[in-house]
Amino acid sequence: MKIIMLGCGNSSGVPLIGCNCEVCRSDNPKNKRLRVSAYVETEGVKFLIDTSPDLRQQALSNNITQLDAILYTHEHADHIHGLDDLRPFNYLRDGSLPVYGDEHTIASVKQRFAYAFLPKPENIWFRPSLIPHTLPAQAAGHIDVRGVKVAYFQQGHGKSTTLGYRISDFAYSTDTDRLPESAFAALAGTKTWIVDCLRYQKSHSHSTLTQTLEWIARVKPELAILTHMGHELEYEKLARELPGGVVPGYDGLTVEI
Ligand SMILES: [Zn+2]
Ligand SMILES: [Zn+2]
Ligand SMILES: [Zn+2]
Repeated sequence: MKIIMLGCGNSSGVPLIGCNCEVCRSDNPKNKRLRVSAYVETEGVKFLIDTSPDLRQQALSNNITQLDAILYTHEHADHIHGLDDLRPFNYLRDGSLPVYGDEHTIASVKQRFAYAFLPKPENIWFRPSLIPHTLPAQAAGHIDVRGVKVAYFQQGHGKSTTLGYRISDFAYSTDTDRLPESAFAALAGTKTWIVDCLRYQKSHSHSTLTQTLEWIARVKPELAILTHMGHELEYEKLARELPGGVVPGYDGLTVEI
């Protein structure tokens, strides 16, 4: 299995437009964070988790040219607004792409991008062509995507919920400030975990470094990678502060397991 972290930034990305803080002015490429997304390839099946507003740049930088399915975590703009850039993937496979998400996410994506759910256009360049799949509203479950088991689990995200995903020994938990017991059950035995860590200070919908480290101590993955990081987190400083087996994410980070 190959996992590429396509983006590990918060909703504004880092640098933040108009900000002159040390992290936003940093020359270190690891302090430049596109919006959150990941690519997972296993058993020949290629998944994209979320369609960030930076999707085009992420696909070009990481040489991603084929996709088989999109897994949506939730409907916030930083996770879906790159949807139109799925057009080349429709073209390259000459067909529609299945998209998966919970009820509120699929409803919202269909409302905002209704044109992508019309019947497949004759000229596939004209618009994205997506087939929606609503996951049952339950705390945790799993689906089969071309022979690959994809497990999903609910996470708290402010007043809303998001889906975490698990494929084999890899799990992905962005945009969450609360993990219910059902999520910890779904995460048991995970070896590589990408997990939300917005900043040091409390937030109304994301995790703090302290809380994320508590979660990691409980899940005990071999490798935990922090994501959805804001400009409060400087890569080198954060890397020094983290315990063994925990690393800050950076765009382009690739893990093979
Ligand atoms: Zn987000
Ligand atoms: Zn800044
Ligand atoms: Zn969100």
